[in-house]
Amino acid sequence: MTERLFQRDSYLKTFDARVTAVRPEGVRLDRTAFFPTGGGVLGDTGTLTGPSGLSRVVETVEDEGGVLHRLERAGLAVDDAVQGELEWARRYLLMRYHTATHVLTGVMFNDFHVRVTGNQLTPDKGRVDFAFEQFDRDVLEEGFRRANAIVAQDLAVRVSFVPAARARAQAELFKLETAFRHDLPELRLVEIVGFDTQADGGCHVATLSEIGRLVLAKTENKGKANRRVYFVLE
Ligand SMILES: [Zn+2]
Repeated sequence: MTERLFQRDSYLKTFDARVTAVRPEGVRLDRTAFFPTGGGVLGDTGTLTGPSGLSRVVETVEDEGGVLHRLERAGLAVDDAVQGELEWARRYLLMRYHTATHVLTGVMFNDFHVRVTGNQLTPDKGRVDFAFEQFDRDVLEEGFRRANAIVAQDLAVRVSFVPAARARAQAELFKLETAFRHDLPELRLVEIVGFDTQADGGCHVATLSEIGRLVLAKTENKGKANRRVYFVLE
């Protein structure tokens, strides 16, 4: 298993690790700060530097043994020591979009009982699918206003780990269902203090003011009740 350093410290930009497997799809490390694609959030890019020099990490994905880093060029072998470095500007944007999605989906559910059914976050936009009973543009715009009001409160974001069995009993922790494994003894909780708590394995900013401002970009009709909502951060 790869130790997921980003789950304890989402601001970790460089790290030392050891290669534990070399596959055609990429190399697995004993520990990593690279977030693997999951829960609707793109995985990290960056570089790994080993005995034979530097290679770009073009994609990070999950595999059954942990986290795989797909490299631009081959050359690493099992047991090589490597230094990893994230493409930080890109990752930080993903952290901002991801945390913004918590706020928006929390507001839509808490205030309007509108559930989220999926999301897709990239460094330049957020996409969230909402299941409306009946789509109402005014409700959505009010949701964005309230989300921005909560961001303006600059609430802290805290991470904790709890026994999985205890967390499983609380359905409200699983609204987003992003990027956590279901087979671990502990679940990771991400709390926006005073607002919402979710079971979540992803990377978030430390305080809400880092998000900036959510701006509704467009909506698409995805069936009777489903609306695909795009937003950008300013
Ligand atoms: Zn999250």
